[in-house]
Amino acid sequence: SETLSAFAQTGDRDVETTLRPRKLDDFVGQPRVREQLQLVLESARRRGVPPDHVLLSGPPGLGKTSMSMIIAAELDAAIRITSGPALERAGDLAAMLSNLAEGDVLFIDEIHRIARPAEEMLYLAMEDFRVDVVVGKGPGATSIPLEIAPFTLVGATTRSGALTGPLRDRFGFTGHMEFYSADELAQVLRRSATILGIPLEADGEAEIARRSRGTPRIANRLLRRVRDYAEVRSDGRVSLDVARAALEVYDVDELGLDRLDRAVLSALVKSFHGGPVGVATLAVAVGEESTTVEEVCEPYLVRAGMLARTPRGRVATPAAWEHLGLRPPTEVPW
Ligand code: ADP
Repeated sequence: SETLSAFAQTGDRDVETTLRPRKLDDFVGQPRVREQLQLVLESARRRGVPPDHVLLSGPPGLGKTSMSMIIAAELDAAIRITSGPALERAGDLAAMLSNLAEGDVLFIDEIHRIARPAEEMLYLAMEDFRVDVVVGKGPGATSIPLEIAPFTLVGATTRSGALTGPLRDRFGFTGHMEFYSADELAQVLRRSATILGIPLEADGEAEIARRSRGTPRIANRLLRRVRDYAEVRSDGRVSLDVARAALEVYDVDELGLDRLDRAVLSALVKSFHGGPVGVATLAVAVGEESTTVEEVCEPYLVRAGMLARTPRGRVATPAAWEHLGLRPPTEVPW
């Protein structure tokens, strides 16, 4: 149809927007968070007040941004989007807050990275819908209270543990996003393939789903890469064989681990004899930021049963050794 081909022509960069679920019903998986949120939203709607502030936590690509947009849509509210790192000065936040209209949703991505002065301003804003704007410097500085419209803050974080206590306490609800099952990812893929007009066969779909690290963003990305392969090297149909061959080209292994995942496991096993080793040391060994290893790689390696976090550091499980084609040591290292 016309809509489909219009979508099919969308460039890769805009594709994430195109593929975002718009309504709670389009949102695949996360049954717990969905049910919990439904209650929070519905009860606020009945009482005619903006709902409590919501914190969404979980690894990247699991749908936190999409969910925040859905929250706004369900509330029939406008959404303003910013991020922790963008709020370097309290003034940046004050400007954002004073522009909110009643009932708006303010989405702050990576909220654990917000700078201290902005964070302190946020406390008062979340609690009393008020900010204190400091005018002037030094002993002559005065603070002017400024009313802001009642709003709902939706914060997203890949590390809820990195949030300060006072900030965490001001959220009325925290939704923990979990990795998706292969079945749920298959559903995400089916929807995306329809929107993008990609002929996706059932076993090709299952193969991509299984190798997407439990993450919808990765599933959608692999779908596009497999589509590329199917169009260039085959007849455009995404079959099991095409999916397998394409994923091999893109360095996605049998378990869906990517290059960085494997580099981390390989360093852990080969350079540190399976650990325990601190995450900072491990990150240096693979030439990555600690936060990337910790927030992007590790959650999935832990979930896949390859890596364990112990008080003394990271250790490789026997499954990690075996995955790298090595024999695990007979004595566990921890
Ligand atoms: P996060 O904010 O957690 O990093 P996003 O909300 O940006 O994740 O999701 C990344 C992409 O993955 C979205 O553009 C969307 O296409 C897809 N996606 C995420 N969660 C879902 C879901 N539950 N159902 C369908 N698609 C999803």
